[in-house]
Amino acid sequence: MTTDNTRFQHVTYAWDDAHADALDPVERLVYRSNLLGSDQRITNTGGGNTSAKIVMPEPLSGEEVEVLWVKGSGGDLRTSKRDNFSSLSIAKLRGLQGHYQRAPERGPKTAIEDAMVGFYAHTTFNLNPRASSIDTPLHAFVPYRHVDHMHPNAVIALAAAQHSKQLTREIYGDTVIWTPWQRPGFDLGLKLQEIVQANPQAQGVILGGHGLINWADDDKACYELTLDLIERAARFIEAHDKGEQTFGGERYQALGEAERHAVFAAILPWLRGQIGQFKRMVGTIQEDASILRFVNSHHAPRLAELGTSCPDHFLRTKSSRSMSSGTRNTAIARHSRRR
Ligand SMILES: [Zn+2]
Repeated sequence: MTTDNTRFQHVTYAWDDAHADALDPVERLVYRSNLLGSDQRITNTGGGNTSAKIVMPEPLSGEEVEVLWVKGSGGDLRTSKRDNFSSLSIAKLRGLQGHYQRAPERGPKTAIEDAMVGFYAHTTFNLNPRASSIDTPLHAFVPYRHVDHMHPNAVIALAAAQHSKQLTREIYGDTVIWTPWQRPGFDLGLKLQEIVQANPQAQGVILGGHGLINWADDDKACYELTLDLIERAARFIEAHDKGEQTFGGERYQALGEAERHAVFAAILPWLRGQIGQFKRMVGTIQEDASILRFVNSHHAPRLAELGTSCPDHFLRTKSSRSMSSGTRNTAIARHSRRR
């Protein structure tokens, strides 16, 4: 693969061979994760996870075993270190499938699906205390050495679109397979395993209403594939941009910069005071061309009220209508039902 600067216009390519080649396999995974997490267009803060299947000696027996190193619960990919990753025995993780299959009722929202989460700790390699993420089976059952699961803006736009399945086909052909929204867990891991078996040519999957997961046997190839799949979605979106008519067209003309900043100075201290009654916060301002186009558009009031397009974004950004956790949970339930 080439790395010329016209290849990626919508994501930042940052892989440095000289740096990566001095690292051990786990450090290379940390390095790849930090690179992916450092571009907000690739994944949101706290969202997404990465993994590598690495052969290492078992501490007591010295026997070589295959270990899944996967981003654990908590923390952000951009700043993750080695101890943010859980390490689990692949043989033991695969063994859990038998346990799952013996349950009389299986699938999302069943008792066995929830119970499986408690078993991951029993597959721990080398006493690593990092708690496993609920996304662990998504990585464990894909039979490739490296897996990236991201929430890229461009891919979520595609994954949350009305004709998501057809659009996936149009953009990626049969190299990326579409699967409907399903809460991440053991069953989704098994679905991915089935998809890979039925589609040996597949390099990744669009998780409907959620994001992207893709894989390769080489870590740099996996990183480049992740960027490439996002770039293709972003270019497709760009090619179908409605230009002046985006978000229903312009309703208000943006103020000039000086005037805008005067308005900020007049309003923001008051706004911060209002929000500060509940929780002290620091505000940041985004006023680039795309934000201004959105806030000044005809459809902005309606679209802003819709909240986010993917549940994971929802948990982190929330919407104005869901300040209390009760409301938030109701909204999540409503959101899930919509998929
Ligand atoms: Zn996710």
